[in-house]
Amino acid sequence: MHVLVIGAGPTGLALAVMLARDGNRVTVLERDAGPPPGGGEAAWESWPRPGVGQFRHPHLLLPAVFRTLRTELPEVLDELTGMGLRQGNLLEGALRSGVLDGPRAGDERFTMMDVRRPLFEAALDTVAGRTAGVTVRRRTAVRALLAGRERAPRQPHVAGVVTADGEAVFADLVVDAAGRDSPVGRMLRELGAPGPVEERDETGFLAYTRYFRAGPGTEPGVPPWPSTHYESVSTVSCAGDAGIRSVPAGTGRCGHCVASRRGTRCCACSPPSPAGPEEDGPSPGSSPCRECRGGTGASSWTGGPWPRES
Ligand SMILES: Cc1cc2nc3c(=O)[nH]c(=O)nc-3n(C[C@H](O)[C@H](O)[C@H](O)COP(=O)(O)OP(=O)(O)OC[C@H]3O[C@@H](n4cnc5c(N)ncnc54)[C@H](O)[C@@H]3O)c2cc1C
Repeated sequence: MHVLVIGAGPTGLALAVMLARDGNRVTVLERDAGPPPGGGEAAWESWPRPGVGQFRHPHLLLPAVFRTLRTELPEVLDELTGMGLRQGNLLEGALRSGVLDGPRAGDERFTMMDVRRPLFEAALDTVAGRTAGVTVRRRTAVRALLAGRERAPRQPHVAGVVTADGEAVFADLVVDAAGRDSPVGRMLRELGAPGPVEERDETGFLAYTRYFRAGPGTEPGVPPWPSTHYESVSTVSCAGDAGIRSVPAGTGRCGHCVASRRGTRCCACSPPSPAGPEEDGPSPGSSPCRECRGGTGASSWTGGPWPRES
């Protein structure tokens, strides 16, 4: 079968390799340019990637992702290890700070990795590039879906795609791996299909990351607990590849946040309503709650020895 994948992000590339190993021919179409030659550091320094807003943020390959890679795509982990990345464990902070009284059998299932995303994508691209049956075509945006002969009455059948250059590419199956802003829902509706049901909510989430590189022969210091929560900003200190530590800071819409219609707590600190999203819509004119306004001072995680600030 010829499978066409829209998007060469982590989903598209991982899927392409796995499908090709199952005996399929896979073509991945990606609108952005590919990684520059020179490996992970070159990807980090000079890979323009406008298609992915979070490209410069660190990515934690959490245990489930890590396990999937180890089982299905161990070569990707080998590539990352070759770039200097180390494996960590999600429980390290809890062990370091004494929240857990010691390691237990089975803790290895919490193995994870913190990667600079350009390195992760470069590793996936390398593995895809040497997998027989996978073709990755970069700088090739998909503009529309191609309708084939209907297989069921009044059900449009997708037979391929049209690229931004007007090229028709036919396939037996088209997979949408174009990310959260995927245009494929719109393209399906243009064909006369209902399109997927999508729910979107504006959270006002903002993220900022700064990277630090330790001097030759030294390792960056490790805080006892990786995350710290201030009034409206949370920071995480992540150990990346050897000598690199990232400190992402994230915030919600505090400062001008919206309260749940039914409560007095704001979007940053109230859990979603059990009644569902309709009950949680923004309430114009409502104000942030006392904690998110800063009335209680900075609060850090309270379960361990990380110092509480005031
Ligand atoms: C700030 C931030 C931090 C995050 N941190 C983590 C983390 O620590 N760990 C984690 O697991 N996840 C993290 N995520 C989530 C993670 O980034 C996403 O889950 C991941 O990017 C999804 O990968 P994807 O391949 O599905 O989509 P994407 O990465 O969005 O890739 C989609 C690809 O499709 C391409 N494309 C789009 N439209 C077209 C088109 N018309 N034609 C051709 N190509 C097209 C895009 O250029 C892009 O390359 C974070 C997200 C954000 C925003």
